[in-house]
Amino acid sequence: MENCLFCKIVAGQIPSAKVYEDDQILAFRDIAPQAPTHILVIPKEHIGSVAEVTEENASLVAHIFTVIPRIARAEGLAGGYRVVSNCGPDAGQTVPHLHFHILGGKPLTTEMA
Ligand code: 5GP
Ligand code: ZN
Repeated sequence: MENCLFCKIVAGQIPSAKVYEDDQILAFRDIAPQAPTHILVIPKEHIGSVAEVTEENASLVAHIFTVIPRIARAEGLAGGYRVVSNCGPDAGQTVPHLHFHILGGKPLTTEMA
């Protein structure tokens, strides 16, 4: 999608520190990490947010969730990690392309809101 930051990263128009890529998805390091390990996992296809997940694209989301534990293992997050997806303005979503944050590398706070 034109003018979408993460679509531009998928297209290689904006550089990113990639940690995983296949034909369907891409994972790269967050530019402003909020934990020692902070990775974003995105579908290459533009999906706006969790609010746009449907039966038609659900297999892509399922695929993301099979890759997340592989990335976590590769990153050495043996102590655990958090997977977060902000959906919409009240959740603080700033990039309107579906993404899952993987946060770890230290004990995270339990604060949820
Ligand atoms: P959100 O706030 O939408 O849940 O998450 C968007 C995330 O994208 C933020 O954590 C932000 O730091 C990250 N981000 C924004 N612009 C860029 C960029 O150009 N490159 C990378 N790697 N991350 C970005
Ligand atoms: Zn996009």
